[in-house]
Amino acid sequence: MIKNKNEFYDFLEKWKSYDSFYLFGYSSRLKAILPSLEKEIKIIGILDNDVSKQGAVFRNIKVISPDILRKEKGKVIVFSYSYHEISQQLQSFGLIEDVDFCGIIEYMGAINALYERIYIDRVQIAVTMECNLKCKDCVWQISKCNNSSHFDLNAIKEDIISFFNIVHRIGVLDLLGGEPFLWPYLRELIRFVIENYSNRLDDIFVTTNGTIIPDDSLLAILSKHRINILISDYSTKIPYQKRISELIDTLRKYDIPHTHNKIDDWADFKLNEELNLSPEELIEHYRRCNFCRSISNGKFYTCQVLWAAVHNGTIEDNPNDYVKYSELDKESWKDKFKLIAFNLKMGEALSLCKKCRGIDSNYVIKIDAAIQDVSHNEPL
Ligand code: SF4
Repeated sequence: MIKNKNEFYDFLEKWKSYDSFYLFGYSSRLKAILPSLEKEIKIIGILDNDVSKQGAVFRNIKVISPDILRKEKGKVIVFSYSYHEISQQLQSFGLIEDVDFCGIIEYMGAINALYERIYIDRVQIAVTMECNLKCKDCVWQISKCNNSSHFDLNAIKEDIISFFNIVHRIGVLDLLGGEPFLWPYLRELIRFVIENYSNRLDDIFVTTNGTIIPDDSLLAILSKHRINILISDYSTKIPYQKRISELIDTLRKYDIPHTHNKIDDWADFKLNEELNLSPEELIEHYRRCNFCRSISNGKFYTCQVLWAAVHNGTIEDNPNDYVKYSELDKESWKDKFKLIAFNLKMGEALSLCKKCRGIDSNYVIKIDAAIQDVSHNEPL
């Protein structure tokens, strides 16, 4: 992972000269970016450890086992959120990080910087903190917070406008909550983004817990604009399999792209339990933690766990934990590099990392997903 400005420019020198790549991780994110990526680079193959995905063909590119890299060396761009695990696998094949392989965030972030452009791979926006599930271990701590409400549509539009003022392109804009299908302004926000930024965006995702079937007019918008619905299915713990099936049938009927993710476990971040890491270990912990970028109130975050902890009042706001992109000058390379460097986690760890086990890190503890806080439970 790129640690500082010198390493960034070294990385750029190497990677701008490569022209053909394997892409690792056959995911919705990969499918979203592939049409624009294949105009720029040659893609030799898609790699995935999941044998049920191997053999699939997407845009004439075959999904194959990563074992090919034991015999044939190649440059690899990793799409998976299990970057840490995949990095170890690739190193066991003799590949070197940042020389033979890197994450999509680093690759697209750096290559676009060649043209003084900012590219952010995936940005989440929480549209509501309201949710109809009451998960005991919710990462946003929704069931425990007094601040669970819908966010203002105009404030979200302002955030998007000022973000695109400095950022050239976003891979995926991911709208989530809480439960975004409870938010009354979803269709209006989607229309606004499509009308203004569809040429600067690969895809829009809506992440839902699968408990709500959207009404016909929202379904028509989702279908028209090919919005990708990511269904987090917790039916192993909550009896709503029938509703999930109904939702999937409805999305199929309307020809709406969707991804069904059965989720059995979550990471337990154990916020506020000191990890007692050295300064070097702390930075490494932060860099390895593969949490999504997000925007809120003119601020760009590399971690939504931290954003939610501030929003809920669990921790104090700390200006070192985000970049105020709304105050950056789009004509200034220094300002733009500030956002690029923060996105690539080239600085210090966030204030919360020393008390948070993170995701895809060495300190992760898994717990059962979506155990309901019965004292708050309501029928679906
Ligand atoms: S360790 Fe925790 S606070 Fe730090 S980036 Fe990861 S999830 Fe966020």
